[in-house]
Amino acid sequence: MDKPSYEIAPWQLRWRGLDLDALRRTESTFALANGHVGLRGTFEEGEPRGLPGTYLNGFYEQRRLPYAEAGYGFPEDGQTVVNVTDGKIIRLLVEDEPLDMRYGRALEHERVLDFRSGTLRRRTEWESPTGRRVRITSERLVSFTQRAIAAINYSVEPLDDTIQLVVQSDLLANEPVATRTDDPRVAAALDKPLISDHASARGYRAVLAHHTRASGLRMAAAMDHELHLDEDNIRTEIKAEQDLARLTVAADVPKGSKLTLTKYLAYGWSSQRSSPALRAQVDAAMVGALQTGWDGLLAEQRSFLDEFWDTADIEIEGDAELQQAVRFALFHVLQAGARGETRAIPAKGLTGPGYDGHAFWDTESFVLPVLTYTIPDAARDALRWRYSTLDKARARARTLCQQGAAFPWRSINGDECSGYWPAGTAAFHINADIADAVMRYLYATQDKPFESECGVELLVETARLWMSIGHHDTHGRFRIDGVTGPDEYTAVVDNNVYTNLMARRNLRAAAAVAEANPALAHDLGVGTEEASRWRDAADDMVVLYDKELKVHPQSECFTDHARWDFHNTPAENYPLLLNYPYFDLYRKQVVKQADLVLALHVCGDEFTPEERARNFAYYEALTVRDSSLSACTQAVMAAEVGHLELAYDYFAEAALTDLHDLHDNVQNGLHIASLAGAWIATVAGFGGMRDHHGKLTFAPRLPPELTKIAFRMTFRGSKIGVEIRPERAAYRLYSGEPLDLSHHGDPFTLGTEPVILPIPGPPDHPTPHQPHGRAPTRRRPR
Ligand code: BGC
Repeated sequence: MDKPSYEIAPWQLRWRGLDLDALRRTESTFALANGHVGLRGTFEEGEPRGLPGTYLNGFYEQRRLPYAEAGYGFPEDGQTVVNVTDGKIIRLLVEDEPLDMRYGRALEHERVLDFRSGTLRRRTEWESPTGRRVRITSERLVSFTQRAIAAINYSVEPLDDTIQLVVQSDLLANEPVATRTDDPRVAAALDKPLISDHASARGYRAVLAHHTRASGLRMAAAMDHELHLDEDNIRTEIKAEQDLARLTVAADVPKGSKLTLTKYLAYGWSSQRSSPALRAQVDAAMVGALQTGWDGLLAEQRSFLDEFWDTADIEIEGDAELQQAVRFALFHVLQAGARGETRAIPAKGLTGPGYDGHAFWDTESFVLPVLTYTIPDAARDALRWRYSTLDKARARARTLCQQGAAFPWRSINGDECSGYWPAGTAAFHINADIADAVMRYLYATQDKPFESECGVELLVETARLWMSIGHHDTHGRFRIDGVTGPDEYTAVVDNNVYTNLMARRNLRAAAAVAEANPALAHDLGVGTEEASRWRDAADDMVVLYDKELKVHPQSECFTDHARWDFHNTPAENYPLLLNYPYFDLYRKQVVKQADLVLALHVCGDEFTPEERARNFAYYEALTVRDSSLSACTQAVMAAEVGHLELAYDYFAEAALTDLHDLHDNVQNGLHIASLAGAWIATVAGFGGMRDHHGKLTFAPRLPPELTKIAFRMTFRGSKIGVEIRPERAAYRLYSGEPLDLSHHGDPFTLGTEPVILPIPGPPDHPTPHQPHGRAPTRRRPR
């Protein structure tokens, strides 16, 4: 067999050949999820494996956070996502010998993640150590249409003679998981987190119910099966004990025949409902799935995805690997958010335990821009989750002696879980990021019910926080001191430009919605005086500028600091946070991830084109990209200021972060924000899409390596497409009402007729430089 690796194909991710060392990585890339249930791409036989992983969005265990020296307001408890009852396991014995890919020979082995069918397929021909050959084919899905349901269709065929096959299909709770590491980005492993409440089995169905010790959450998992075999010489047994339910099927299967098992899984959890109620819930979901049947589930999955791709697809001509990578990225972003339904979207989605399963600003600032324009209902639901945590955010603000709401830097249930203030709660910008995501969603959908049920209150309470942590100084300027911006290598600073500009938007948006919704504003206690104070603070907001260097310092005194000694920093010392003290990082000019450059993108209307180009070049020389939340923003700004090849390199880095395992940690789960960044780099980068204050504008330009980029999106109920060629761009309205857009600054109305416009040449600015050894890899199209 050829050396195993991903094969390049436009609509699939295929891995041919067996490479046990790569399992951890491919378990993440082959993960299936719907935003509610997530299954890592482990083999059905359970072993060998890197990390098992079955996750239910929002289901966590609580643990004390350890502090050497505690302080006022430090969160006491952390939360860790739980690896719940594993229903993926289907073990096989071939004439007494367990199928285990570590033994015998894999004559053929491939796995395919299919972005259109929304399934993971496997085909393995295996020869046991004693020479018996079988072919295993499986296909699994986590349903987008029936959110509690996953299913696996599994077949075994003897390739030589009649063989006795024994199949054991399990539900297994409290699987042992080994992780020992000093890397803070890896989850704290939990030992046996689930306590049994119920176990039962009957026919081909079994149910296990458990709860967690400290967080007190309850869950139930059910499995049921359909067996298909031409012969009737088949024997089955089912049993259930506390942490294990098992259906065993034994059959003599002649050559030319096969044993097929369709396994249906149903999951549910709750902090409120009783164990019997949860069992009833999974039973009901199970009967629904059986009624739909395997073929029905496949058909529903396909049509859900057809609809998604019809609104969201991106075509790339000239680089087949990036074509695959952007669809892979969009597929996983969809899987992270599609059916979350008022749960968070974690930084790793439901693909691994990294970052303890926490959600960060990644959701509002990277994932929601994608969902807002491709599947807006999922963006709304993620924002509804934030809204559902508003009381906790208000309480957190009180603890911090502030007004309004202070949303957590990292969390599963809305409580702050960050034990490190400078790169945690001090990153107050998350509040403005949430407000911005609300406004973006409202502009893009004009969803009035969401505005009145959630939007106004979120905007008002976040605006109140800025009034409380900021102040007017003696010169009448509004300052926000002692906060951390997106760059975590510069912490607890005054007047971070990104934070101040985002807070300004937040304050103005709150004043505008309060004015537009007087009754609601009245209920929230907002008078005209409060709203005008918000406007004044916004108008008086400090936005730093260094007149000598003609750039915006990221925060107060930033440009006065010593530069990091990049020349004497060896490549193996990145990421710097694992090799140098924060003390030194904080007092030097070194940028972990786009911060001021993110302001150039998101608040681009606050800068002149000349300022954007100069700032981009200045920060380019300091940015080391120790976070995967940087390359996409650098792609966007590189494209805008005319460095199209550099933009292409950054785009490739964002899109290939997980497929090439660029951060060497994909085994802990995918980088969902970076995957979302592949969309951002395409649409906002090469498409030049901006949405300042609800005006949708484009400034498309192709990098020289590509001959075409085409993308689709939805805005105010209309579906549009933009096709970028080297010399011209074509805009098309596929459905809905005409839209007012603009192309490189020229307004036009897009109606039923396509609009084709020439693309002007890029601006000409000197080539920027990156820190020594940190330039992105020059992308050669594949
Ligand atoms: C980044 C944060 C990000 C977090 C989770 C950190 O390395 O600096 O901006 O929110 O990872 O992705």
